[in-house]
Amino acid sequence: MSVTSVFPRLEAKLPSVQKPIQYVGGELNSVVKDWDCAASSETGGPTVRWALMYPDAYEVGLPNQGVQILYEVLNERDWILAERTYSVWADMEQVMRTGDEHGPIPQFTVDGHRPVGAFDLFGLSFSTELGYTNMLNALDLAGIPLHAVDRGEDDPVVIAGGHAAFNPEPIADFIDAAVLGDGEEVVLAISDIVREWKLEDRPGGRDELLRRLAVTGNIYVPHFYDVAYAEDGAIEAVVPNRPGIPFRVRKHTLMDLDQWPYPANPLVPLAETVHERFSVEIFRGCTRGCRFCQAGMITRPVRERSIKTIGDMVENGIRKSGFEEVGLLSLSSADHTEIGEVAKGLADRYEGSNVSLSLPSTRVDAFNITLANEFSRNGRRSGLTFAPEGGSERMRKVINKMVTEEDLIRTVAAAYSHGWRQVKLYFMVGLPTETDEDVLQVAELAKRVIAKGREVSGRNDIRCTVSIGGFVPKPHTPFQWAAQLDHEATDERLRQLREVVRQDKKYARAIGFRYHDGKPGIVEGLLSRGDRRVGRVIEEVWRDGGRFDGWSEHFSYDRWMDSAAKALAGTGVDVDWYTTRERDYDEVQPWEHLDSGLDKDWLWGDWEDALAAADGADIEIEDCRWTPCYDCGVCPEMGTEIQVGPTGQKLLPLSVV
Ligand code: SF4
Repeated sequence: MSVTSVFPRLEAKLPSVQKPIQYVGGELNSVVKDWDCAASSETGGPTVRWALMYPDAYEVGLPNQGVQILYEVLNERDWILAERTYSVWADMEQVMRTGDEHGPIPQFTVDGHRPVGAFDLFGLSFSTELGYTNMLNALDLAGIPLHAVDRGEDDPVVIAGGHAAFNPEPIADFIDAAVLGDGEEVVLAISDIVREWKLEDRPGGRDELLRRLAVTGNIYVPHFYDVAYAEDGAIEAVVPNRPGIPFRVRKHTLMDLDQWPYPANPLVPLAETVHERFSVEIFRGCTRGCRFCQAGMITRPVRERSIKTIGDMVENGIRKSGFEEVGLLSLSSADHTEIGEVAKGLADRYEGSNVSLSLPSTRVDAFNITLANEFSRNGRRSGLTFAPEGGSERMRKVINKMVTEEDLIRTVAAAYSHGWRQVKLYFMVGLPTETDEDVLQVAELAKRVIAKGREVSGRNDIRCTVSIGGFVPKPHTPFQWAAQLDHEATDERLRQLREVVRQDKKYARAIGFRYHDGKPGIVEGLLSRGDRRVGRVIEEVWRDGGRFDGWSEHFSYDRWMDSAAKALAGTGVDVDWYTTRERDYDEVQPWEHLDSGLDKDWLWGDWEDALAAADGADIEIEDCRWTPCYDCGVCPEMGTEIQVGPTGQKLLPLSVV
């Protein structure tokens, strides 16, 4: 059976929508295979077909590393076909719903312009929960029933992945499955299971396929679990509702990143996107122990790519894509054991060329300045970003971000004296135990930074931009039990801080101030720690027109609150219950049956340490990369281990490579 491209129907409509190029496909390194590619392949048998989505607009979705990696890993198999789809803007949605003489135009892939509903699997990667309404819109446009229970034999299996999938309960009704952790090997394992089931002529239909996925222990099928609620609204238990389904679903960890050097054929966007560079992930995981950081907690342990693989990936990626900027990614890139060697080796290799290197450096120490100087050999000194996160020393102890004010001042002094003129500092507001005074300390810190910059550089054009985000407690972190600060209090603290900065004429012009109001954080909080009842809220918001909630111009707090009031009526719980309420140890969290490897008692102990630090206790968790294991539980639970250098390898000059 072949599937017809919707492009001829779409083409006539493209002149009437904004940025039509985003729907056209055909990017350098994109792939369009025969719908029945397996038939003409060496492997033979049935073709397994994936539609992959990053549920945001093309300009945000295309650069997403996760989707690019899976797209390539899947398409390397001659019996698998993988295509991409992104969220369409409102004007295109209107065009598609109005359709033509054949009816509405369905959600389509940008590669083959095939209807998403015709694929075997529809995989969505969520790095943020604010993409949930976009998922519902894509399902609806694709003609796939919104609720998993209503899907038929011919509908795709809808699978969620990405960091938000570590608590997929708010979208449990809309997905067939969720995958926790690294996707590379899991998507191939899922493809194998689907292929086998198709080869056997689909025994037991969709239900049997989902069962085969669920019994692997790595793939969560929410429909196979029942949730019971207690009278007070809390969860009593989450238990499998059929034999053979595991009580807990484990995350997947990819070991040996050198064996998986993707993306090897980076996609080059046709339209403008948020990042136009080639990114190489230099390690995965982070064990620094910042208590607010979900990404650090759920991606443990640390696994480094070797310097040789990094060098090869950079060279190959530049050659295949033509990008002139290379980003070395990870959660804390300067922590790679051979980062100095990587920086020097790459800077030497590309000196005098048009290739520039960047390192998202967030650690506050002088070593970062040395690195930044290496990386800027070929480029401009635009600005350095550091993330002390907490305004006061007390707050930084609570969150286990052990940066002293002296460290920060020493670092910025080094930066300003090396010719940098602009430093960005990132903070959070609303952290557990925070007071107004802690937040006002941000202003003092910024002033000291400017004063030091003026002193060491002898110039007056020194700038410091203070960027502030609202803290949202996340599952699988020590702060998963914390109360979130309500948006009124968040806004009031930000207002006071802004006033203090403005009032000081000596510094006000040198300090930039960037922040968002507290409302989107409350919705993110609802979706992050929500349970299955929150699904009704998401559906209500989408039915009321909610889309692109990660975009401030499209986000409507009132719509979310009105929808929540309607959807949660009679449940005994409300938005405050999910967000601004502190939990205790015994409460069953919605994600407790999903195993990130972190030991619950360790997380709870770390939460207690945070509270003790708030009262002055001097407790610090160091990085298990350099110090003995502190028993977070991940390595024994997942059968993994830390993989770090040094390997002693060196990067050779490019001509020799
Ligand atoms: S189990 Fe130990 S070595 Fe492994 S990530 Fe946790 S603290 Fe580090």
